Amino acid sequence: MFGSLFSGGVVKRALDNGLIEIQVHDLRDFTESKHKQVDDRPFGGGQGMVIKPEPIFSAVEQIRGGQEIPVYLLSPQGKQFNHHLAEELAREARMILICGRYEGVDERVIEHLATGEISVGDYVLTGGEPAAWVIIDAVSRFIPRVVGKAESVRQESFSEGLYDFPQYTRPRNFRGMAVPDVLFSGDHGKIKDWRRRKAIEKTWRLRPDLIKQKELSPEDKKILEEIHKGRKSK
Ligand code: SAM
Repeated sequence: MFGSLFSGGVVKRALDNGLIEIQVHDLRDFTESKHKQVDDRPFGGGQGMVIKPEPIFSAVEQIRGGQEIPVYLLSPQGKQFNHHLAEELAREARMILICGRYEGVDERVIEHLATGEISVGDYVLTGGEPAAWVIIDAVSRFIPRVVGKAESVRQESFSEGLYDFPQYTRPRNFRGMAVPDVLFSGDHGKIKDWRRRKAIEKTWRLRPDLIKQKELSPEDKKILEEIHKGRKSK
């Protein structure tokens, strides 16, 4: 399931350049059961299967090899993954992500092994792999030199608690849809102000909660007041 993540794009380049290292382990390699069974029926009855504690504990212990490596279980019940958590995880030298399947994993993994649980959103996936993929991709971007210019990570959506400003490229006019003139003014100060205003405008329109959480500079407050005034006068 991880094949395409490793076979193209930024993550592949980071792997090729030795900036990150990813090892995928199959839980079946850590079970002593004759048929390599990693799951079993839930105690107390109910539908589906639950991943047993034994292969998960064995896998983590073997991978850790006595070192303190944080272990995160992917789970819809976990802490919501976001920009800040990605940045925080990128500071870890190593981490272990456990992908569940079926009805999930034995609760003892959560209580006695995992450092924490991480969710990629309020919905249920069939397995933890797509969630691990999302986390690996987003965390890798914070590893130095993985993304071309350091600037591009710093200026993107959420990095300053705002959405990114709108981007345009050639042609200047596409089917009558013109690129804003200010971007051709050659005035870098004006372009910077316009981009800031657009970022604030879009964030305010789509995610006012982000703006409310943010400490605004006097310039940003002025922009926001002007946006409010503009709305009222319409
Ligand atoms: N019975 C579990 C529950 O209701 O909380 C859901 C199990 S789900 C079908 C199987 C596995 O997919 C989980 O153990 C977890 O590893 C992964 N998973 C599902 N949704 C996820 C999400 N939103 N974030 C992270 N992992 C998720």
